[in-house]
Amino acid sequence: RTKEESELYRLNHRSGNEVTVSEDLYALLSCAKEYYEKTNGRFDISVASLSDLWNFKSETPKVPDDAQIKKTLKKTDYSQVHLEPEHKVVFDDPDTMLDLGALAKGYIADKLKAYLVSEEIEGGYINLGGNVQVLGTKTDGSDWRVAIQNPDSESSYLGVLSTADKAVITSGGYERYFEQDGQVYHHIIDPQTGYPSESDLTSVTIVCSDGTTADALSTALFVMGLDGAKELYRSGSLDFEMILYDGSRVYVSEGIADSFSTNMNTEIITIQP
Ligand code: ADP
Ligand code: MG
Repeated sequence: RTKEESELYRLNHRSGNEVTVSEDLYALLSCAKEYYEKTNGRFDISVASLSDLWNFKSETPKVPDDAQIKKTLKKTDYSQVHLEPEHKVVFDDPDTMLDLGALAKGYIADKLKAYLVSEEIEGGYINLGGNVQVLGTKTDGSDWRVAIQNPDSESSYLGVLSTADKAVITSGGYERYFEQDGQVYHHIIDPQTGYPSESDLTSVTIVCSDGTTADALSTALFVMGLDGAKELYRSGSLDFEMILYDGSRVYVSEGIADSFSTNMNTEIITIQP
């Protein structure tokens, strides 16, 4: 998004309200539309201007002015971005910008996996900074074991998942954040408030055949919180499994409950479909 020669940069710095984009970008924007709709707008890639305002990557980040946040919220609404035939993208608001940070890594990993499959690779794993995709099984036929980071400690795991052929993707507020006046501000934004999401969860892991879905939902479910996550899981509108942590309990959806193990002294609660 920050690279001037990129297609996304050109889309965000358009003149006029209509841009024709490549097939790849259109596919990503379409996925983002589906997740926006199925999460009631809690997943919203038009948070770009809010992310700029919060500027988490800066060396000296600080809490923006509340009036500025309110103003920026007006251009944060992906329902004001229309995907039309022939890869045409139409914007209602000339200032709306898009940010693919929540799902691009998952999409890229899907493409890498498809490439490996096309080269007849039978087993392996791809790790893009915590976004793990496993292909097939290990050479001895056993499942891959993917460890999930404990957000409270760098030296222990929340647990280990045994899995084959799946994306295992985690989001949490502990990866990128700053502190001001004793308060922590992290990089996952609630599009309803313009502020970092005040989630009751500290870590969300999604397990899914499709990496794009896993990446997007890890961010979305973090914003939605425990009740919202359970509701989306039970609605069946998207096919995924999940591991949630609220700082004291671990919640594991039924489809992977038998494949998850932990050494931590915490309660594990199975979420039924
Ligand atoms: P990471 O990429 O750091 O592993 P995530 O996959 O959770 O973590 O994505 C976080 C990124 O997603 C943020 O840096 C920002 O670019 C973008 N983002 C933040 N809040 C939202 C949101 N509510 N909906 C969609 N994208 C978001
Ligand atoms: Mg994500």
